[in-house]
Amino acid sequence: MTPPEQVEELLDFFKSHSIQYRLKIGDVQQVIDEQRNKIPSEMIQGLSSKSYNLTWDNYYRYDDIREFAYALSASYPQLVTVSVAGKSYEDRDLILIKISSGGSGTRNAIFVDGGIHACEWISPATVTYIIRELVENYDAHPQYVDDVDWFFMPLVNPDGYEFAHTESRLWRKNRRIHDETNTTCIGTDINRNFDYHFNEGGSSDNPCAPTYNGGQPFTEPESRALRDAILAEANRTKSYLTVHSYGQHWLTPWGWTTEYPDDYDAMFALASDAVAALTAVYGTVYDIGSSANLLYANSGPSDDWAKGVAGIPYTYTIELRDQGPVYGFLLPPDQIIPSGIETWEAFKVIAEAVAQMV
Ligand SMILES: [Zn+2]
Repeated sequence: MTPPEQVEELLDFFKSHSIQYRLKIGDVQQVIDEQRNKIPSEMIQGLSSKSYNLTWDNYYRYDDIREFAYALSASYPQLVTVSVAGKSYEDRDLILIKISSGGSGTRNAIFVDGGIHACEWISPATVTYIIRELVENYDAHPQYVDDVDWFFMPLVNPDGYEFAHTESRLWRKNRRIHDETNTTCIGTDINRNFDYHFNEGGSSDNPCAPTYNGGQPFTEPESRALRDAILAEANRTKSYLTVHSYGQHWLTPWGWTTEYPDDYDAMFALASDAVAALTAVYGTVYDIGSSANLLYANSGPSDDWAKGVAGIPYTYTIELRDQGPVYGFLLPPDQIIPSGIETWEAFKVIAEAVAQMV
């Protein structure tokens, strides 16, 4: 994101140091500005509701997502229960949505979260789209709620998300101040703060780094709230889906080692079925593999902990659209609904499998 007047200087620097480079986005601000445009209203017919603002025509703010959760629970009290799983560093409620049609806590469960990384706006947008589909279209496919219980934390990092909306579009971490005398290097990468092979690669102990791990496991109120919400239902949770962007990857643990989990073949088989259903909609291609093998080493992410400590067998990190490099985190809002539609197909496959698990 070099200012135009410094481009020449930067290129000279690369040249004089023999550094190879390539351009990813020519004008970041232009892409950001385009993203603020709402999509045409005919695309969202049937999605608008009088009781909340979300219409998936744009990236909505924390207050709208929170309002959506409570509006659903007011309209569908027999299906939706909203609770507060904890408070963020800046004292925002961390909303937890349970979707269940009964069963007294005996049904297998799926836990889904979104928005761990502040700049990945397509994540909470897609997760809320799926919540809406389960609840408002329950009559069209009741088995996806009657056969499994769902737990959603659609926005794990509301402080970072709001900061990305108001101040710095590509912000990643939360907003915790580590040291009152240093307010330039703040925030922790919540997805490096979980206590399983903590700080064993692909994670930084420098508070200025975008992947700062917090120094110790579970230093962050957001990671503690997510941990406690997952543990509360872990004994019946068969799948944990943590939704990120971008890259179009369906990832299994582990991040800390290139070794595969013992049950990798079963995890891969279910992922393949889910991805096939997703791709069948628009041809969107995903690749499947373990984080460390397909992407890069990363230690302390929530998925490794959910499998390694909480013992949830089918644990995946989903990296949504696109593949980059043109948009990346700056995915235009006209892709929100297609992302929701295709990802829902994958979630249906996961739900059908989870319902059958013993
Ligand atoms: Zn992410």
